Amino acid sequence: MTHTDYTKKILNIKDKNIYFEDDCLEIKKIKGIQTKIFHGYLTYIPDYCPKCGCINEGFNDIIKWNFKKNCKIKLTKVSNYNTLLLLDKQRFLCKHCNHTFTASTDIVDFHKQISNDTHKSVTLDLMTKDSEKNISFRNGISTNSTNRILYDLSKDELIKNNGKLPTSFGIDEFKATKDTVSKMAFIIVDHDKKNIFDINNSRLSNDIYKYFSRYPRSERNNVKFITMDLFKPYYKLMHKLFPKAILIPDRFHIIIQIRNALDKTRLSLCNKSNPNYNKLKKY
Ligand SMILES: [Zn+2]
Repeated sequence: MTHTDYTKKILNIKDKNIYFEDDCLEIKKIKGIQTKIFHGYLTYIPDYCPKCGCINEGFNDIIKWNFKKNCKIKLTKVSNYNTLLLLDKQRFLCKHCNHTFTASTDIVDFHKQISNDTHKSVTLDLMTKDSEKNISFRNGISTNSTNRILYDLSKDELIKNNGKLPTSFGIDEFKATKDTVSKMAFIIVDHDKKNIFDINNSRLSNDIYKYFSRYPRSERNNVKFITMDLFKPYYKLMHKLFPKAILIPDRFHIIIQIRNALDKTRLSLCNKSNPNYNKLKKY
């Protein structure tokens, strides 16, 4: 194994285009915290120019230009030290369109400084009951960065369960937190597993349509039963989204209707001139 291979194994870097020199490690205090800093470089022969799309077949198409020096990438901790990668990224010049462009790597997203591994580690930490401050400290990033990751996660664009819907589920609305759109949240309950499948922060028809549209039509066609309340617009909406499912008003809402009707009648009869007044009031 070469020096580069060892360093990459330690840092969990799988990109084959990143290289390290012998003296790549430096330990320095950054903002008062001892930090391990690795210097590396990224280079390869690009297949095509991302600006004009021409295929790279040799020196007449794309040539190596200079390096974009010291791009900071926050890695996960090594032996509990904050760890930083200073990466020199190769720049290229396309002879067809005269544009330059920078090499890219899969260890970090474009224009970001936090490596994908660190991002994953923060996401896992956010699933525990811990403060953003502690999580930020543990991962060696700022509270603002942790907050941004949390915000991205809560944007509700993730498709649950790898895009698989339960074949039988119930929907309803309920009073949740104050920041929910339209004051009520929307809940989906898996009948087979008897647990909550997902909660959406809006019960508006438009938002529910958008929510379920993210699941492929073939998946929606597999849904067999949906139970819900007696709100008419939902029936139209669900029929459009799930044309093969049977829509069932659930027991709970029917019983509530009967109970409310009974109570209304009882109250209307409950006046003192009625000979059954006491019975109606007490029972
Ligand atoms: Zn080009």
